[in-house]
Amino acid sequence: MSRKILVTSALPYANGSIHLGHLVEYIQTDIWVRFQKMQGNTVHYVCADDTHGTPIMLRAEKEGITPEALIAKVHTEHYADFSEFLVEFDNYYSTNSPENKELASAIYKALKANGKISTKTIEQFYDPVKNMFLPDRFIKGECPKCHAKDQYGDSCEVCGATYNPTELINPFSAVSGAAPVRKETEHYFFKLSECTDFLRSWTRSGTLQQEAANKMNEWIGEAGENKLSDWDISRDAPYFGFEIPDAPGKYFYVWLDAPIGYMASFKNLCAKNGLDFDEYWKADSKTELYHFIGKDILYFHALFWPATLEYSGYRKPTQVFSHGFLTVNGEKMSKSRGTFITARSYLDHIKNPEYLRYYYAAKLNGSMEDIDLNLEDFVARVNSDLVGKYINIASRTAGFINKRFAGKLVSACKHDVVETIKASAPEIAKAYEARDYSRALREIMRLADLANADVADAAPWVVAKQEGMAAEAKLHADCSSALEMFRLLTLYLKPALPDLAGNIERFLNISPLTWSSVNDSFADGHAINEYNHLITRIDPKHIEAMTEANKETLQHSPETVSKTQADLANASDYISIDDFTKVDLRIAKIVNAEHVEGAEKLLRLSLDIGESNPRQVFAGIKSAYDPATLVGRLTLMVANLAPRKMKFGMSEGMVLAASDEHGGPFILSPDAGAQPGMRVK
Ligand SMILES: [Zn+2]
Repeated sequence: MSRKILVTSALPYANGSIHLGHLVEYIQTDIWVRFQKMQGNTVHYVCADDTHGTPIMLRAEKEGITPEALIAKVHTEHYADFSEFLVEFDNYYSTNSPENKELASAIYKALKANGKISTKTIEQFYDPVKNMFLPDRFIKGECPKCHAKDQYGDSCEVCGATYNPTELINPFSAVSGAAPVRKETEHYFFKLSECTDFLRSWTRSGTLQQEAANKMNEWIGEAGENKLSDWDISRDAPYFGFEIPDAPGKYFYVWLDAPIGYMASFKNLCAKNGLDFDEYWKADSKTELYHFIGKDILYFHALFWPATLEYSGYRKPTQVFSHGFLTVNGEKMSKSRGTFITARSYLDHIKNPEYLRYYYAAKLNGSMEDIDLNLEDFVARVNSDLVGKYINIASRTAGFINKRFAGKLVSACKHDVVETIKASAPEIAKAYEARDYSRALREIMRLADLANADVADAAPWVVAKQEGMAAEAKLHADCSSALEMFRLLTLYLKPALPDLAGNIERFLNISPLTWSSVNDSFADGHAINEYNHLITRIDPKHIEAMTEANKETLQHSPETVSKTQADLANASDYISIDDFTKVDLRIAKIVNAEHVEGAEKLLRLSLDIGESNPRQVFAGIKSAYDPATLVGRLTLMVANLAPRKMKFGMSEGMVLAASDEHGGPFILSPDAGAQPGMRVK
């Protein structure tokens, strides 16, 4: 019987670009959705940009545009990135929508009617210059424990202590730099502490992975304990978000309306496609609802969200699927190593999104473990599995069918390997259903090995040179069977490789493969189309160019900030004098300048800063300067930047230059009298 399934991925925050870390989740979800659709189930996959909160408001202000203009711009960018990675949403919407406003207000009113909303006057830091209350992450100061300077309002990055922002010594606003004052304000709370029994039973009812359920257990506590505190759901103006219906000047905290954005996106889809919203969201809905999320937002999806739904009269999620984080080459993604790679940069350099989809699928097993993108392994795996094993089956046999048999296949008599491949369908489906794509792909590649061994045994390239009817018939049958194997493997890989599968369907001249196509086979005389090259190997040079490019652009790309790290990141326009004095700026004399073979943008400079040997620095100024004109000049360099190994050698500092979209780079010159090695401060 066909299932009715609503699926979501977490809503990306409209304050930065999609990067390869984000894509783990969207690719994971998309593969699952495509698999379910191939099964004949009715599936709706919805998502949206998450658009509210202080970081969005401040970023828009910094860019001199309205928050609405900022989120419209980011929405376009996000949607383009997802589309190019073949993530096929049925609706990609925005939390700043009329549907979301209406639903958030209605849910709030229902919670209130159920006695689940309270108010409390709290004392918070207030920026007297910006006239706004400051979230913890926008207050900095000296750690009360270890006295490290310039620490955030909630925790110290030096000693690891956590504390209240009111405990900071000499606190200052990260927004204006002003000393904050303490001010009372009334906040609205969702009484999560009254939801303990419900949440204890809900989180243990098979809705979460075991490791997630254990984590929730720690947070909720054992029966009789009550460790949950009420949840602060309001923020004071100025705030970009929805005003609370009966509370002028108070806004819903972004995390209140973000998950409601799943419902709002679906509601918008219902209006477009004539679907029944209530069928999917009423409390006794028989449909299934799944949220794919990262483990960092489990708290919001496994506690706040089901409690919100329970006490406002809606259904709860069938299951919440959490995944781990992405590491690159075994480490956290890093801008200095060039492994903080945006979706766009991947597309620019590697081009084919299905390589990444395949690699992530090969690593994802449905658990909350982190997954590693090892760039060398990525190249090796894609080249050996996809090109070497899978595509190889067609590339070694299709040409004979095209040239010798006018593109017509002969119906294969029962063939052992074909039957073995067919018999694996239930096992592979089970692995996809359990989100254990790595198991599915291991099985598919094992079958591809069998297919290749069979082709090698049949040796069509040898048979093709033999004379006579028997050889002719054998060649025809063997190549036809090989393409039957290829068709089945394509079906199994289709959730991960939808575009490639589409091209292969056209080449094989068949209708779009669904899971039940496993039972089909080519009719006698079925005509295929001309075989054209389907996929190329990854050139490791492109990987190198991608990481290099991400190193070079890192100074210019705004930090990607997720709202998850609370009201997070330091969006400050100010640094302290201590920050500034950390930078060792020196007058440098350019004693030599030359082109670097193979580098498009770089010149190699030798810089005298009064040390025994000149420093070697690679500077991206080739477009603007003839090296000969630079020799002998004085300029400005950062002398204490950590040395960086580049493709062309070690770079031991950085030369400063001015540029914008109209021109540059222009390097700097000191006034007469400055000497090499002088400190600039
Ligand atoms: Zn400290």
